[in-house]
Amino acid sequence: MDNNKTYYGEFGGRFVSESLMNTLKEIDEAFEKAIKDESFLKEYHYYLKDYVGRETPLYFAKRLSEKYNTKIYLKREDLNHTGAHKINNVLGQILLAKKMGKKRVIAETGAGQHGVATATAAALFNMECKVFMGKEDIIRQAPNVMRMEMLGAEVVSVESGSNTLKDATNEAIRYWSKTAEDTFYIIGSAVGPYPYPKMVKEFQSCISREAKAQHLKAEGRNPDVVMACVGGGSNSIGMFAEFIDEKDVELIGVEAAGKGIDTDEHACVLSIDTSKLGTLHGMKSYLLQDENGNIKLAHSISAGLDYPGVGPEHSFLRDSKRATYVGITDKEAMEALKELTRLEGIIPAIESAHAIAYGIKKAKEMNKNQSMIICLSGRGDKDLNTITDYFAGKGYLN
Ligand SMILES: *Cc1c(COP(=O)(O)O)cnc(C)c1O
Repeated sequence: MDNNKTYYGEFGGRFVSESLMNTLKEIDEAFEKAIKDESFLKEYHYYLKDYVGRETPLYFAKRLSEKYNTKIYLKREDLNHTGAHKINNVLGQILLAKKMGKKRVIAETGAGQHGVATATAAALFNMECKVFMGKEDIIRQAPNVMRMEMLGAEVVSVESGSNTLKDATNEAIRYWSKTAEDTFYIIGSAVGPYPYPKMVKEFQSCISREAKAQHLKAEGRNPDVVMACVGGGSNSIGMFAEFIDEKDVELIGVEAAGKGIDTDEHACVLSIDTSKLGTLHGMKSYLLQDENGNIKLAHSISAGLDYPGVGPEHSFLRDSKRATYVGITDKEAMEALKELTRLEGIIPAIESAHAIAYGIKKAKEMNKNQSMIICLSGRGDKDLNTITDYFAGKGYLN
């Protein structure tokens, strides 16, 4: 295969050991065949509809729209089974694994959301499942560890480096390179070596395919602005996919600015002036790095956004100026979470609250006839402890 196809501009590629190179080529061939195969697509769409609950509504947030004087639509990925968009991708990949005759799936997880989605699908399809998770995250995300174990997955504690997501991903790749014969690695975001960014985009693009048609039905035209939060970049690339060629639609990715981009505690990779190119987890992309090129720890109040890199297509979309990336601090996200909860009766995941926060800012540049779609990537149930701790003594919950 033409090596250039594995790149988005200068980003992407396949930075893996020789032994995995063949595996990646096999996966790519199987994937390309599957997405043109009627019976594969029929099965995938059957599970999206009857198991996940798609299509998800495009909800017109009336009170939010009235307050900020522009039309705000929410793509309700929070209503999916398991509470977020991640299941869309996991189902696609596990069906591919099944088609390729694999008997075991593995996954990396930070906050535990992708681990739960993978364990869920593994139970559904009766496959063995191992989830690699940093020791630190196992402690911080105990309820998700319990969920994965209830679903029959083995949670493998990773004790190296910072004991978090980056290290769990390294360990998953290491394990995979020894077991690829019978094991499929389900990557949880639009990252990793080619063809993963392409596959994840395809399996998440149901978000924008539905939203585009739903918005057309409601407004008779395309939205002016489409936005989503960016961790590794899967809900955002799924939200952008159908709009990338619609040049009059503004695309905005919202990163986690944590305690501020002028501090050392943030997760902004693309929304800063000093983005640094590097390779991590099999891909070349912009990454959080120190002066010596070492990967820095990302910080965000939302566990799902503190990945120290971003998928290669996002790096390309930014450099080619097709999409814009901005940062939202912990504080701004938590204020937006409160606003959405009280105005619309929807408690969003803290990740998604970052997109809401920027939507509120952006609304000030728009008028009442314009419209935006915000991807509400997940629900906030998993975040109740963080939310109550954050607002303790701040008056909101009294
Ligand atoms: C995992 C997660 C994210 C971040 O991941 P992306 O791959 O960037 O989408 C965002 N929102 C929720 C609810 C998540 O669980």
